[in-house]
Amino acid sequence: MSEDEQKKNARHKQAMQKQKARVDAHIAAADTERGVAILLTGNGKGKSSSAFGMVIRALGYGQKVGVIQFIKGAQLSGEELYLKNACPQVTLYQMGTGFTWNTQDRAGDIREAEKTWAEAIKMLTDARYDLVVLDELTYMLAYKYLDEQQVLDAIVQRPPEQSVVVTGRGGGSALQAMMDTVSEVKDVKHAFKAGIKARKGVDF
Ligand code: ATP
Ligand code: MG
Repeated sequence: MSEDEQKKNARHKQAMQKQKARVDAHIAAADTERGVAILLTGNGKGKSSSAFGMVIRALGYGQKVGVIQFIKGAQLSGEELYLKNACPQVTLYQMGTGFTWNTQDRAGDIREAEKTWAEAIKMLTDARYDLVVLDELTYMLAYKYLDEQQVLDAIVQRPPEQSVVVTGRGGGSALQAMMDTVSEVKDVKHAFKAGIKARKGVDF
């Protein structure tokens, strides 16, 4: 090995030692063991698919998972088809009214939202659930189909070991403030805007 290479390797080792010390300190400082509340928001693609990534993680440890999908999909998306067919241990409830711009029925949507929320509450009060995904919940708050305070209270009061993932654009500052982790997916560009059709297995 050249002298230059040896120096590079030594510098790398030193930098990694420093990094390890920082990582170890952060790990030692995180001493609270409880479920986390996660909000995946923003205008870019990747919110729901990230939530379903966590579903797979939880299932990998044999955890109990519940998924509630608000608003969208008069038909099931790929991940929901998979959960329904291959993962009978996952409780899946879909509002299934379709998009608001298709239903054009505010009163009907509100009734369905409340019915769907009743299913969510069952999970959020059941300590057997390790992970609850409330997919597209933010739109229920934006349209005021559900009472915001009621939703926030239910998330705060859930069993301490339970994690909850909320997806959807917006969501409001009160929701953002009370969630433990908030990630915003930024729309840099999207294929659809270049005229590429939504793709089975990728977009739905
Ligand atoms: P995904 O389910 O793919 O993770 P998402 O949950 O972040 O997406 P939603 O607003 O729920 O986004 O919309 C889902 C559908 O809309 C997907 O088909 C996705 O590709 C598409 N989509 C998401 N963001 C955009 C965007 N910025 N422009 C156009 N289409 C989008
Ligand atoms: Mg989504």
